[in-house]
Amino acid sequence: LRHAGSADPPSWFTRGRDRVWLPYAQMKTAPPPLPVVATNGSRIRLADGRELVDGVASWWTACHGYNHPHMRIEIARQLETMPHVMLGGLLHEPAARLAERLAALLPGDLGRVFFSDSGSVAVEVAMKMAVQYWINNGVRGRTKFVAFRGGYHGDTTATMAVCDPDEGMHRLFKGLLPEHLITDLPRDEATTAALDRLLGERADAIAGILVEPLVQGAGGMLFHDAAVLRRLRALADRHGTLLIFDEVFTGFGRTGSMFACDAAGVVPDIVTLGKALSGGTLPLAATVASERVFRAFWSDDPMQALMHGPTFMGNALACAAANASLDLFEREPRLDQVKAIETQMTAGLAPCRGLPNVVDVRVRGAIGVVELSTIDIPRLKARFVAEGVYVRPFGRIVYLTPAFTIGAEDLARLTGAIVTVLSEP
Ligand code: PLP
Repeated sequence: LRHAGSADPPSWFTRGRDRVWLPYAQMKTAPPPLPVVATNGSRIRLADGRELVDGVASWWTACHGYNHPHMRIEIARQLETMPHVMLGGLLHEPAARLAERLAALLPGDLGRVFFSDSGSVAVEVAMKMAVQYWINNGVRGRTKFVAFRGGYHGDTTATMAVCDPDEGMHRLFKGLLPEHLITDLPRDEATTAALDRLLGERADAIAGILVEPLVQGAGGMLFHDAAVLRRLRALADRHGTLLIFDEVFTGFGRTGSMFACDAAGVVPDIVTLGKALSGGTLPLAATVASERVFRAFWSDDPMQALMHGPTFMGNALACAAANASLDLFEREPRLDQVKAIETQMTAGLAPCRGLPNVVDVRVRGAIGVVELSTIDIPRLKARFVAEGVYVRPFGRIVYLTPAFTIGAEDLARLTGAIVTVLSEP
């Protein structure tokens, strides 16, 4: 790793850093952000010349690493002809081709693709679709969602209301948001029976069940198995409600299969996609509905249309990026790389198991998690940078979600840094 250049931050940084309100940061006490000047592969280059191995892939988006040549070429090609045109009354080739490819990749008849520009909005659209599905079918009052403890679905008002209300990052808003039914995942007989009861008792109020399949991400990187998803499908069918999978995090290989629903053999009624959809380059998300859902909007009545339309939905550059990303999933052995990462992370993080402060070590696909009993996040962050890696602990966990293209040496640096730093008193 190179370490060169001046220690003085660049002038754009000293001038502008207090103007940018950073995400999830107490601006008074948070250490200043790191000035970044370039990215490449699995590396982030800082203004002082240091290169950090990136363990986060920019919030789990950069699945092909940064600056993949094919991504750059395809985005540049699209830029020449049409960076953006609205989807209001118009359609362009990158969006049409992407929708067709997503429909072919997703299981069952999930194939009606509504584009948006962030995962939160994709989830809001899914919620709106589900509520209107019932209205369009002549059923009133089905406006509530069953969602799960440990869950996270976004930061907008509607999505905050379906996050974990007690432990989640939006708990400050508890009681101020629309009330939904947040309960335990059906992991065993007791929780399955409880959910079955809830769905029966509140059937007239419930629009759908919303879940992050296999891994609840920003709520704590909590894993559950495919049987949970099969139970949810069975319960949704039994009680005649809709099942929504939020695959904003899990989609595009992160858990080891292209989509988490593939691993479970379960087809939801609606699925949300984002993050790695555009290979980590441009903002793009999608809400994909089954025929059953789409048909409820198919009518001679204009009021039964889905009244939603983010200005930049289906942005042509972002769709070209997503098509390039899907090319790479076809041409390069991404899922094999995820398998190799899983194997290496399992071995690399294993020494953490013996450490006094460690509660759990878990790995699934290209997600590695070390859960701690207590955590000093500012100290850990600084130590990771000093070790030459970018790792961003939250809650009580330290985790890795690297690019699928990361080399074995860089991955070893990441797991090694975690073992080293967590071994310190
Ligand atoms: N849903 C899930 C499962 C997520 O992990 C996230 C982001 O972390 C979101 C929704 C929100 O996506 P965005 O940050 O793009 O709005």
